[in-house]
Amino acid sequence: MKIDRVDHIGIAVKSLDEAQPFWEEALGLHFHPREVVEDQLVQVAMGEAGETHIELLEPTDPASPIARFLESNRPGLHHIALHVDDLDAALARLKAQGARLIDEVPRVGAGGTRIAFVHPKSSSGVLLELCQR
Ligand code: ZN
Repeated sequence: MKIDRVDHIGIAVKSLDEAQPFWEEALGLHFHPREVVEDQLVQVAMGEAGETHIELLEPTDPASPIARFLESNRPGLHHIALHVDDLDAALARLKAQGARLIDEVPRVGAGGTRIAFVHPKSSSGVLLELCQR
């Protein structure tokens, strides 16, 4: 199992329409078409920043984890995602090391990626996503 890059940085926003123009127009990032991830009740706008991406996340429902995040925090950094070549091996390794996992089994994220979240209690207070494209 190998981590080869920061895949993306997830940013919680109240409104993609308000947030995206800064990243797209002012900074010039190329954005993929928006996508709703039903599983997490979010609408995602993914902008390319070299080998990594900026992932803007807007809640589509008050029950969304992003909506709950925005209730207690300002819009801003939500998670960091590291790309792994073998997500199943990564989860097995973390489990064996005693890390606290939010997802013990991978689920499907934006763009059909396989993803799993690690609890911030294990990852220095930062919500960590592991993903395999
Ligand atoms: Zn993400």
